[in-house]
Amino acid sequence: MNAAPPQALTALARLRAAGYEAFLVGGCVRDSLLGRVPEDWDLTTSARPAQVQAVFSGERLIETGLKHGTQTLLLDGQAMEITTYRTESAYTDHRHPDAVAFTASLREDLARRDFTVNAMAWSPEAGLVDPFDGQGDLNRSILRCVGDPMRRFDEDALRILRALRFSAQLGFSIEGATAEAANALRQTLELVSRERIAAELTKLLCGADARRVLLTYWQILAVPLPELAPMAGLDQRSRFHCYDVLAHCAAAVEAVPPEKLLRWAALLHDVGKPRTATVDQDGAGHFYGHAAVGAEMTEALLTRLRFDRDTVRRVTALVELHDYPIAPPEGSPERAIRRLIGRLGEEDFFRLLALKRADALAHHPDYRERAAACDRIEALARNLLAQKAAFTRRDLAVNGADLVALGVPRGPAVGALLETLLDEVMSGQTPNDRAALLERAGKCAFGA
Ligand code: ATP
Ligand code: MG
Repeated sequence: MNAAPPQALTALARLRAAGYEAFLVGGCVRDSLLGRVPEDWDLTTSARPAQVQAVFSGERLIETGLKHGTQTLLLDGQAMEITTYRTESAYTDHRHPDAVAFTASLREDLARRDFTVNAMAWSPEAGLVDPFDGQGDLNRSILRCVGDPMRRFDEDALRILRALRFSAQLGFSIEGATAEAANALRQTLELVSRERIAAELTKLLCGADARRVLLTYWQILAVPLPELAPMAGLDQRSRFHCYDVLAHCAAAVEAVPPEKLLRWAALLHDVGKPRTATVDQDGAGHFYGHAAVGAEMTEALLTRLRFDRDTVRRVTALVELHDYPIAPPEGSPERAIRRLIGRLGEEDFFRLLALKRADALAHHPDYRERAAACDRIEALARNLLAQKAAFTRRDLAVNGADLVALGVPRGPAVGALLETLLDEVMSGQTPNDRAALLERAGKCAFGA
């Protein structure tokens, strides 16, 4: 546990000095043993919440989940969660324990945790405490429930999705009985709040091994995401494709950088294909209009999962545009690029390129050259941005007030003239220069 921040070691030492047991526990122990950087540092202690407060009186201690014995301590800018050893009684709603009881036993606290690799504790004095062979499972790269998986998933359905999420993040396989139980109880995921589902799915999609998890466990994922089911096994009947629709999307997920917007867009970019599938006389598959249908489905799906409006809007735009030729052979590619940057903004424009590149790479090996076209467009776009080209009316060296000052009547004429000037700037006809634009505006408005 060499990587533990000194503040966490100080907190352990202060609890110990006051006569309590205290350990680092859960994800931070797991990740440290794997040589990964932990998300957060969690402590578990025999001290009751009020005793924790007494030990850290004078420090910043936030009552984050006092009902469950959890408080967040801030020491020298480092946050950590301190939770009292606890056990959980019956779960009647498949999600929340009916009651939480504190216990004096570390082993009991570890026994309530979800997976063996998450049920290890460590302190400088005791070293690793590992009653369920979490370390063995870490070495074997296996996720296994602590105790009977049917019971553990039945208690809390979110654990089913956590298993898939850790499998994707850590590249671990899910042990046989644990995977069987997850599959058998998958319908109970309907009882988990949509926000929690969305958060786990995003972590899963951003995992390095998301593609394998999508392909292996799509029947479980299809409970919160029923849109996936008709994608699985849907033959594209096309020489351009070597995968069915779901496998193609999973390959695209793997090929985009691991961030929320892109991973969701890659998963859903062809979600409209099942509804638009047709087969022509020669037996070839077509999916006319699948991007527009897919955009509608994406908007509905992400809204259902309670994603914020900005996320919904941006992922939907990526799905809608994924098949759109950025620079058609006729017409100026620069102009098309400028228009699109004006519409999407710079960041999402490059996301769209990343999605298109990934889409191309997820095709049959003989038809992946479209990825190179994305590289060329990217180079052109970077060049335009370096020149500080105009992408929207706001980027023009003149504004509406300037035109009114010239004598253009207030109202729609101003907007129309700005649009004409933007077109001329974007096509290179007029430089984006104040004097030049005022002169052109005068000519256009008054023929002078
Ligand atoms: P990360 O923080 O990297 O996402 P983590 O393992 O730390 O992973 P947290 O959600 O932070 O996961 O939970 C901390 C610990 O609490 C877990 O390691 C596990 O021991 C326990 N835990 C969390 N959620 C559950 C659950 N639903 N059922 C049982 N134990 C859980
Ligand atoms: Mg954690």
